[in-house]
Amino acid sequence: MADCLFCSIVAGDVPADIVHRDERTVAFRDIAPQAPIHVLVVTTRHIANAGTVVPEDADDVVALLVTAKAVADAEGIGAEDRGYRLAFNVGPDASNSVPHLHLHVLGGRSLGWPPG
Ligand code: AMP
Repeated sequence: MADCLFCSIVAGDVPADIVHRDERTVAFRDIAPQAPIHVLVVTTRHIANAGTVVPEDADDVVALLVTAKAVADAEGIGAEDRGYRLAFNVGPDASNSVPHLHLHVLGGRSLGWPPG
């Protein structure tokens, strides 16, 4: 989609530290990491956010989860290792700043609960 930052990263028009790419997803390191490991997994197809997902998006949403697991395992924070947090931000109270569906993969330190 025109004027979408994450569509531009998917297209290769904006540089990013990409750690994974497949037909449905691209994963890259967050530019302002909130944990030692902070990777964003985005859909290659433009979807606004987790609050707009419809049943027809199911394959893309499953692909986000599968890629998140692969990234966590590759980063050494998989379920058999330290563990990690997955987060979708939706709307202003969650500080959702980029309107393109993305899953945060956070880990590498104790993250605590509930989040601040
Ligand atoms: P959200 O608040 O869920 O919309 O998260 C958007 C995330 O995108 C934030 O954590 C930002 O730090 C991150 N971000 C913004 N621009 C870039 C960029 N060019 N490359 C990598 N991450 C970015």
